Parts: sequence; structure tokens; C-alpha cells
Amino acid sequence: MLLRLRRAAPSRQIDSILALAKDLGYRPRFLDAQREILELEPEKGTDGKPDHRSRFEDCAGVAQVLDAGEARERHERAPGQPDTVVAVGDARFGGGEISLIAGPCAVEDGSRLLEIAKAVQAAGALLLRGGAFKPRTSPYSFQGHGEAALDMLARARAETGLGIVTEVLDPRDVARVAEVADMLQVGARSMTNTPLLAEVGASGRPVLLKRGFSATVREFLLAAEFVLARGNSRVVLCERGVRGFDKTTRNLLDVGAIAHLKRATHLPVIVDPSHAAGRSELVRPLARAGLAAGADGLVVEVHTEPSEARSDAAQAVSAETFAAIAKDAVAIAALDRRRLRTPQGSATTS
Ligand code: PEP
Ligand code: MN
Repeated sequence: MLLRLRRAAPSRQIDSILALAKDLGYRPRFLDAQREILELEPEKGTDGKPDHRSRFEDCAGVAQVLDAGEARERHERAPGQPDTVVAVGDARFGGGEISLIAGPCAVEDGSRLLEIAKAVQAAGALLLRGGAFKPRTSPYSFQGHGEAALDMLARARAETGLGIVTEVLDPRDVARVAEVADMLQVGARSMTNTPLLAEVGASGRPVLLKRGFSATVREFLLAAEFVLARGNSRVVLCERGVRGFDKTTRNLLDVGAIAHLKRATHLPVIVDPSHAAGRSELVRPLARAGLAAGADGLVVEVHTEPSEARSDAAQAVSAETFAAIAKDAVAIAALDRRRLRTPQGSATTS
């Protein structure tokens, strides 16, 4: 591992870094006369542990970890390491496979849910997403039907065979939600809820982790690390836009972060163009942009009667628009020899 120390670090800070290094089984050695660049060579038999990087980052005298060496965090992609492919029902994310998740923002009633499920399945979705527990900004907005919605989701799965994705807000609900969900969504507002991250990690269910709206890429990856550290490697990252200064779009889709994440981590990355756009007419172009930047899938809010949606109606797209997005996905996937998996079979343009 290679550390850059603060230029004016007092000697007691440097001493404590050296003591920690020895404690963790490293041989420390300064590489420069100014004693700013510190190399930590693992003692024989010391295998770098993923938490060592954070231990050094926490030290007051450390300015930057320049190279984590073998002490790689679990989310990090080692040189040449292939994608982790996360399987959820028939969907696959990563390794050149793209899958689509779609459904209403909130589960409204059983028959409407089933109608939407069938429509998105016909258009190419492999997973149905609908909120039972909704994280709303106002306590007076519709909060979702909770437990009753879980039953509706279970029925939609039984009828269509689609895997279910739904959000869990409270660590105490994880076991109950995991009985129905094939994939647990942790929403943007919950990204820093570490007890929740630990609990979904312990559940062993695949996790759809959304980026907090003011989270840096590093904070996003460390949120994933909380799940991975619990022994659950089935994490799919979701870029859904961050808060910008301009309200023209609801959020600012961070396309650069998608391209970066595909390199920095072996975990799959998908895009939610709906919450980034906030307006239905912008969802398709943002979906295209996300896939072109390398995303392994999409999660799109779709409604058979968009104007009647009980939450996020302005950004809900019709089943027809979703079908057009799925077609785009086939074409964009083919640009770099990837393929879209669909209920109708893997789709390629060639
Ligand atoms: C949602 O997926 O409906 C949602 C509330 O998204 P986010 O957590 O990204 O705001
Ligand atoms: Mn929504």
C-alpha cells in the first residue's frame, strides 16, 4: 500500500500511522527525504484486508491512499477482473448482459399492477418493480400500501413469472419484504442507512442500491461495501441522478459516473432514467445515454395510464414508450457486443 502523508503532519500523527501499520502486519518505509510518501509492505503471510485502506484513511496524518495494493475493498475491480454477473430470476446484470426492470412507482391495486406487469413483460422487462413502502418527501403524500402491496406483488409474480423488485425502508421489514422480493431495493434516501445496508446484506437477497442524491461516487461505493462486507456479493448499483443547481430536470443524470463505475468496480451498474428526468418525454433519451455509457440495465417507471399514477405521474412512461426503450437497448447493446435479455429470448440486432 502507498500513502501520501500530510506535509505538516506532527510527529505524533506519523508515529501513530507507523504503529498502526506494524499492528496490521506491514513493514513501513518512507520513499522520500521529506517523509511524505510511505510504502507499507505486507509482512510475509499478511494478506491485505479490505478494511485496511479505511483504517489508514481515518488517520489524521494521511492525506491520501495512493495505492491500496492488495488491501482492496470488496467492490474494487482488480486489474483484469471480469464483471460480477448478478442473476435475479431470469434477469442477468453484467458480463455483457443487459436486463430491464419496469413497473409503477407505487403498487396501487392488484388488477392495475397485473395489467402493468403483463404490458412491461410483453415489451421486454424481466423484472417487475413496484413500491409497497414508499419513501416520500412529505408525510402527507401517499406512502404506499405496505403489507397489502406485498401480497399484490406476490400475486403478480405467480401470474406472470416476473421476478419482483421492491423497496425496503426499515431494517425491521427486511425479512418480511424478502419473502416476496427477488431483489431488495435500497432507495436514494436510504443509501446512508448503514443498519439497513447491513440487514439487506445479511438477507443474502440481491440488492438494488440507488445512489443518494447528494452522494459522491466514493460514498456510493462504500454503501455497497456495507452490503458486501456482510457476505452478500449480489449488489447492483443504480445511478438515478444527483441534485443539480438547475431544476430543468428533476435530477442530473451523472453519465460520467456510470462510465467511471464500470471501470472502478466489478459490480453491475444500472440506470434509472425516470427519477433523473422527472418528465416522461425525457426518459427515453436518458435511458439511451445511460446504456451508451455502459450501464448493464435500466429500471423504468411505467404505467398503463400514466396520468393516473398515484405517485411520480409526471415521469411515468406508457408501455409503448417502454417498448421503444427496449428496442433502443437492443441496438445500443450491439454497439459493444452486449445483448439484451428479454422474456422472448436474448435479443441482438445481428
Ligand atoms: C423510486 O424508485 O420510486 C424512488 C423513490 O427512487 P429514489 O430512491 O431513487 O428517489
Ligand atoms: Mn418513483
